[in-house]
Amino acid sequence: MKHDILAIDIGGSKYMTGLLNEEGGIYAANRCACTPGSGEKVMAGIIAAARLLLEKNPDYRPDCIGVTIPGLADPKTGYWVEASFSGISNIPVAAILSKEFDIPVYIDNDAQACALAERLFGACRGVGDFLYLTVSNGIGGAIFAKDSLYYGAFGNAGELGHITVVENGRPCKCGKSGCLEMYAAGPGIVRNYMELGGCGTTEKREVDAKYIAGLAAKEDPLAVETFKLEGYYLGKAIAGACNLINPRYVIIGGGVSLAFAVYEKYLLENIRRFIYRSANKELKIMPSAFGYNGGLLGAAAVAVCGRCKKFGWGTF
Ligand SMILES: [Zn+2]
Repeated sequence: MKHDILAIDIGGSKYMTGLLNEEGGIYAANRCACTPGSGEKVMAGIIAAARLLLEKNPDYRPDCIGVTIPGLADPKTGYWVEASFSGISNIPVAAILSKEFDIPVYIDNDAQACALAERLFGACRGVGDFLYLTVSNGIGGAIFAKDSLYYGAFGNAGELGHITVVENGRPCKCGKSGCLEMYAAGPGIVRNYMELGGCGTTEKREVDAKYIAGLAAKEDPLAVETFKLEGYYLGKAIAGACNLINPRYVIIGGGVSLAFAVYEKYLLENIRRFIYRSANKELKIMPSAFGYNGGLLGAAAVAVCGRCKKFGWGTF
């Protein structure tokens, strides 16, 4: 029997809802901007958006829900444990949504979810060992090992964003300082650009990482310098992770991966600089092919894997 899925991708500054089949085909989707608010506000927004999507598509009756969570999630209990960027904590997402829609709900951290999507629908079909990184407003990571998601002892493996790349560096909301996320995620890229002497605003708006990537593509020297730094910070952290887990592929998703071509050269240079080369000869680094739909496909993948307990989903 074929299953259809209501997919919900909760992000730091937006959420997406979609109706998908279990092969990752997107039937309908919508995207809403949201300002960081309380957990109740986020849940109310998601429920309203999902209801609207279902009303507009009455022929489509999903029989389960998959959700991606920004920050720490517990797939076993269905709790959103913590989002370091917003102060949201301890929300029983699965219980709230299953009560509302009366179908089973499966949740996972967004990077874990996207790794499952790469394995099910993307570049990692048939690949058992890979590292997935999402670089957007924050940085998350997931480890796939022996064809299974690796959760670690407490369910939180793969937090690459909080590897220290600068000693006594910028304070991070996780409670320490110098984290990769503070230097290589979107807001960190803007800060690097400004520290190099770039201007944080244009006549029309505040500068963001996408804007700086556009300048770098046109060879603007400060923007190019900024993305050299991006290659350095990301490359250093990725090389360290590869020395540890020896993956076949590294897939980079999230908004900043859309500018991959701008910093690919610097990233590869730095990975070569910091990696144990003979141990990682055939490693391939590539951007995710999913673009902005990565989170929705991740949510659908969580539902598929949650229902069948595929690829070690929820095992720790
Ligand atoms: Zn941190």
